[in-house]
Amino acid sequence: PPDVEQLGRATWMFLHTTAAYYPEKPTPTQRANMLMLLRSLPILYPCGWCAEDFGKDLQSNPPQVGGREALSRWLCERHNEVNQKLGKESFDCAKVDERWKDGPSD
Ligand code: FAD
Repeated sequence: PPDVEQLGRATWMFLHTTAAYYPEKPTPTQRANMLMLLRSLPILYPCGWCAEDFGKDLQSNPPQVGGREALSRWLCERHNEVNQKLGKESFDCAKVDERWKDGPSD
């Protein structure tokens, strides 16, 4: 079975980076595909309990695919839900761009 921690780090990197470079004004095609990417996780993510809980979280917090800023924040909040569940520290969502797009400003 996959290493759930490594898989998680790699997946979050992919998702946060993809959100960070998602257009501010996505086309309908880009929106539809981002929605499909996120909605496919509860069906395909190869960690059963992760997939199941993420599916429930998506039900109560629909993906915000309207633009990169909203998407990045929404994803940060979803990641924080998982952090909380695992007893990890919460991440400051004001810093998502610094972490996943721009790098530190100093
Ligand atoms: P990670 O949580 O993997 O984070 C990687 C890096 O992202 C951090 O070092 C930090 O720089 C940055 N970061 C942290 N929080 C945020 C945030 N909120 N927004 C933006 N950036 C942030 N594991 C389980 O054991 N049980 C589960 O149910 C589970 N569900 C998961 C569901 C999904 C959809 C995914 C993608 C992963 C899930 N995982 C789960 C894996 C888990 O979230 C972690 O990836 C794993 O435990 C490794 O944690 P880590 O401490 O190395 O950092």
